[in-house]
Amino acid sequence: MSGVALDEARSRFALPRDGAGAPVIYFCGHSLGLMPLAARRIVNEELDCWEALGIEGQFTGRRPWVDYANLMTAGLATLTGAHAHEVVAMNALSVNLHLILASFYRPQGARRRILIEAGAFPSDRHAVAGQIAWHGLDPEDCLIELAPREGEDLLREEDIEAAIERAGETLALVLWPGVQYRTGQAFDLARIARAARRAGAMIGFDLAHAIGNLPLALHDSGADFAAWCSYKYLNGGPGAIGGAFVHERHRHRTDLPRLAGWWGNDPATRFRMAPTFECTPGAAGWQVSNPPILSSAPLLASLELFVAVGLPRLRERSIALTRALEAEIDALPPGEADIVSPRDPEARGAQLSVRVRGGRDRGRRVYEAISARGLVCDWREPDLLRIAPVPLYNTFDEVRASGRVLREALATLS
Ligand SMILES: *Cc1c(COP(=O)(O)O)cnc(C)c1O
Repeated sequence: MSGVALDEARSRFALPRDGAGAPVIYFCGHSLGLMPLAARRIVNEELDCWEALGIEGQFTGRRPWVDYANLMTAGLATLTGAHAHEVVAMNALSVNLHLILASFYRPQGARRRILIEAGAFPSDRHAVAGQIAWHGLDPEDCLIELAPREGEDLLREEDIEAAIERAGETLALVLWPGVQYRTGQAFDLARIARAARRAGAMIGFDLAHAIGNLPLALHDSGADFAAWCSYKYLNGGPGAIGGAFVHERHRHRTDLPRLAGWWGNDPATRFRMAPTFECTPGAAGWQVSNPPILSSAPLLASLELFVAVGLPRLRERSIALTRALEAEIDALPPGEADIVSPRDPEARGAQLSVRVRGGRDRGRRVYEAISARGLVCDWREPDLLRIAPVPLYNTFDEVRASGRVLREALATLS
């Protein structure tokens, strides 16, 4: 597929409807991206291949399964700003965090602590706390959770730098989000990576809410590693195959301890079935199992669209869409709703997180009222609506309509 015009991209997606068949306003791409229409065709092609060829589909057919992970590499490298050998499609996000942490979190002596943000996505916290315990250490001592300043919702980058510096030689690793899932705050990855590396710590990013949302420059950021899922802004489908990045400087560190499996073995010798592990250089060496073909196929459809439309153009449209949504929310009756996300478009992605007046119960009722009116977003306890217009398939008309829905819902609940 070569160039696809921005306006045309929406027509390449299935657009959900409500029970009565009316289209909904789907601003929930931060949780599950919509289905590219081509996904069904590609999944069917794999089923046809299995049906017709059995095991031969591994090596023959339109897309031999043995090389399937490679089909995703170029698209992922473009979206993350990485070299092809630095990225790999595999597993799911939390699994990838564990696999990579097994290699990069190597506590030694006093250098044993991990820094994350307070209020991290639970799975990320479980992963680092679990790793700390796995090493026989105590998360109470070894996990640092940095909270925003009193009365603030967002983290200041100078405070992150200061926390890294304070931890100094006790710091083994920093795991930081590219975009924070609750607030939508985007971080300067290069700045955080520099601070971590100055302190002598490993630095990794969780890109669950960043990939496909804003352009990334992972290689240049200097990050040691990153991991992501593909079902949010990447539209890979429920439970889609995730991905990981390992920086070039570790490309030939085949000596790093890892939780190895046969798919990380050099493809040239993998099927000799020898007992020794011959590690593939680069990110692909962290693969464990052969990839799930049926939950990779839809991602191929989506990556093609991203490449055809181009992320810089998408980002431009995304900034404009989110600005328009911001204007709608700011135009609500005074005091009704506060935008928690950064006001600076450079410091956020597509998502705006909104706190409505009157506390948790009223917020929840607002959420239910807008849902009943066909605005699909989500509710995060204790008090946030997360609303994300997605540039691939959402429109400015939908943003205006969402403003009307919010006004009506608030009016009925005043
Ligand atoms: C969505 C998300 C996850 C989900 O993890 P899975 O392993 O894909 O189930 C984990 N961490 C963050 C930060 C997320 O946003």
